[in-house]
Amino acid sequence: MAPQPFTGAFTQQEQLDDAAIAAAVRVMKTGRLHRYNTVAGETSEVALLEAEFAAWQGVPYCLACASGGYAMHVALLAAGLRPGEPVLTNAFTLSPVPGAIVNAGGKPLLVECTRDLVIDLEDLERKAVSSGARFLLLSHMRGHIVDMDRIVAIADKHGFEVIEDCAHTMGAQWGGRKSGNFGLAACFSTQTYKHMNSGEGGLLTSDDPEFMARAIILSGSYMLYERHGAAPEAEYFEQVRLETPNCSGRMDNLRAAILRPQLAGLTANIARWNDRYYTVEEVLQRSGLFHLPERPAAESPVGSSIQFLIEGISEADARQFVSDAKALGVELKWFGDANPVAFTSNHHSWRFLDDQHLPQTDEVLSGVFDMRIPLTFSLEDCAHIAEIVVHCGRLLALKGAA
Ligand SMILES: *Cc1c(COP(=O)(O)O)cnc(C)c1O
Repeated sequence: MAPQPFTGAFTQQEQLDDAAIAAAVRVMKTGRLHRYNTVAGETSEVALLEAEFAAWQGVPYCLACASGGYAMHVALLAAGLRPGEPVLTNAFTLSPVPGAIVNAGGKPLLVECTRDLVIDLEDLERKAVSSGARFLLLSHMRGHIVDMDRIVAIADKHGFEVIEDCAHTMGAQWGGRKSGNFGLAACFSTQTYKHMNSGEGGLLTSDDPEFMARAIILSGSYMLYERHGAAPEAEYFEQVRLETPNCSGRMDNLRAAILRPQLAGLTANIARWNDRYYTVEEVLQRSGLFHLPERPAAESPVGSSIQFLIEGISEADARQFVSDAKALGVELKWFGDANPVAFTSNHHSWRFLDDQHLPQTDEVLSGVFDMRIPLTFSLEDCAHIAEIVVHCGRLLALKGAA
């Protein structure tokens, strides 16, 4: 018998709490929304957010900016990317990642994805050697963290810098160390569907003072870089400030004001996401119908979404599966779809890139389904949703057996 349809909204995040709303109202009442518009003795909300996020992340430097994609763009420029240079990145990621590389003047070189949805380390080494790339923009897509000890070793061996895309791993860890603290820099997003919500927004972190000085000037600090909350000493700006263009992309005080209380609640929310994630995962796992990507013991993820594979599924069956689930109120994304839909697209629709030959990724993505797990869903909702997914999986399996 079919389960009852689910009626919740997969794109509905929680409302902002009263502290965030009060902070936003306070800022609006001052009229000082620009980060450098402060009165004597005042530290701007953006500078406070930078200091608090740096402390939370456990790094000396943080820059708040306009978006996660902008943070990646600025990171590549501050790292010294030259026009036309190759940048290694994951074939399985979201379109703003290759977009940021192109925006910074680089050429994305996509690396294959494994069936556990992380970057393929053999293909990475192969392409590092063949391209001589000096940068890897490593996307922890959908929160799956590759073996970071091996990444660090491979980067050392082949002499490339790692910039981490932590849009889905804010608060996650590998081996007890925060995701984002393994390379030159890390980029976070505070866009509505990520782990903190300011509509749009980005955070860039690093422990490299020269890198961060360049990033701050790039972000549009003018000569006001001393009004930052987690910036290197003034001496690092002496040359940099004259040699670095202003690529305006600052964060404003209103966004920072609503992010600060969210940062204070982030640890609690990570636990809430994981309760929901493991509730869904357990039901899917038990059904025996799906491959759930391995979550290694060293990984502490943030389960804000879930992915599972039906390996070898045909295109017609994948469409049927998504539509059966939808009929019961469950929104699944299928990464194998040749047509980009909403936020989901795969490398075949990134035609601004040179042709990429990615047979393994194509094979993997043809069976990948993806579902958001917003905190507005209760644990009962999660169990209900998982039952629906399993029900639709059984329909497919029965059809195959018939
Ligand atoms: C959302 C996202 C980004 C970009 O963040 P924006 O703040 O939307 O620019 C980058 N990488 C991944 C994997 C994302 O999901």
